[in-house]
Amino acid sequence: MRPLTEREIRASFVNCTKGEARRMAVPRDLAERPWDDLDFFGWQDPSARERAYLVAETGGGLVGVALRVAPHSGHLRRGMCSLCLTTHTGDGVSLMTARKAGRDGQQGNSVGVYVCTDLACSLHLRGIRETGRRLDESLTRAEQVDRTLASLDAFLRKVTG
Ligand SMILES: [Zn+2]
Repeated sequence: MRPLTEREIRASFVNCTKGEARRMAVPRDLAERPWDDLDFFGWQDPSARERAYLVAETGGGLVGVALRVAPHSGHLRRGMCSLCLTTHTGDGVSLMTARKAGRDGQQGNSVGVYVCTDLACSLHLRGIRETGRRLDESLTRAEQVDRTLASLDAFLRKVTG
């Protein structure tokens, strides 16, 4: 994806208030992020592990979503990211929930997704980060990226829909 600025990131959020978007912890090292290898930009709040964020380029423009990270039970277990299909053990995959945008969200409705806790699906897909296990499959990397983006798009539609 193209490099994003802090201003673009803060302006992209669809499921939190303007005040929340202004106060959220946006990474300071945006210039050093590997944008060429990212299909979407995701990060955890370094001071609050229960908060995570992701921003993606969609047909309707940039869409940012604030996520709640469900606490882990502490058991060592295995989980698969529903976006990039990387399998992790321990707390490598988390259930993250997004409050829905608009009136639905105000009424308490949210959408959940199991996703890599580090939100680095793009790097797992490309073998740049190798902390998880990838399926042995016949799809090309480009096809796997397309599938990930399609899954992400479906999730974002549920949040904004
Ligand atoms: Zn993933």
